[in-house]
Amino acid sequence: MEKIRQKNFSNGSVYALKTNDGYLIETTDTFLPECTKYCNYNIEGYGDRTERWMIGVSVMSGCPVGCKFCATGIMNQFRNLTEDEIIGQISFVLDCNPQYKFSEAKEHKVNYTRMGEPFLNIKNVRKSIELINYYYPEVHHYVSTIGIKDSDFSWIKENITLQISLHSLNEERRNNLIPFSNKMTIKELGQIRTKSNLKTTVNLTLVDYADFNIEKLKELFDPQYFFIKLSPINPNINNTMGGGVVNGRYY
Ligand code: SF4
Repeated sequence: MEKIRQKNFSNGSVYALKTNDGYLIETTDTFLPECTKYCNYNIEGYGDRTERWMIGVSVMSGCPVGCKFCATGIMNQFRNLTEDEIIGQISFVLDCNPQYKFSEAKEHKVNYTRMGEPFLNIKNVRKSIELINYYYPEVHHYVSTIGIKDSDFSWIKENITLQISLHSLNEERRNNLIPFSNKMTIKELGQIRTKSNLKTTVNLTLVDYADFNIEKLKELFDPQYFFIKLSPINPNINNTMGGGVVNGRYY
């Protein structure tokens, strides 16, 4: 794995890496104060990697899903990453930070949220999770998916949490934003139940105010099982839909 570019933020870095056969991937290394577990505003400073340390990995180079607000989907090639390439991104970040120990951060997470749809590379994602659990038993995994039809969620339990990419509460609009036909409907997403220690996160990368509808959200996603997250559009990569309606930190 070779580093092509690095961009630094106040609370971490984003890396463009290249696989041995020349495929580009994005990996992030971010941290936040422990208090942001409970609220995410009015914080002073960003803490360091001893508090909340998040490593965001790609599971593919490129992505066949083609979300309108994501430049990954318009790369002209894609392939699944191997287990070694997924875990290699974690090793890369850890090697960049020899002064910190991942296992000693109060919260240490691996987010499967960079390039690619995890459930289209599920075998290698699950093998990676098993191996990471072996070395870092206190780790938490966030697996982000658009909701591929007929996915098995029975293995999403304990320290593994699901994040579903909703982006709009209007089915037609969602189909337009996520132009991948073999995906679950919004209603089906609302019926997902897991045995995770944490609620399933519903992620809304809001492109437009019209994509948000609190009444529908409450009706379809029972707050007993779902946690709602509003995200800004990823500023790290080019996209065709502008900045979205959420201002804030991206991590
Ligand atoms: S947002 Fe995720 S699923 Fe959609 S194109 Fe980008 S990488 Fe693929």
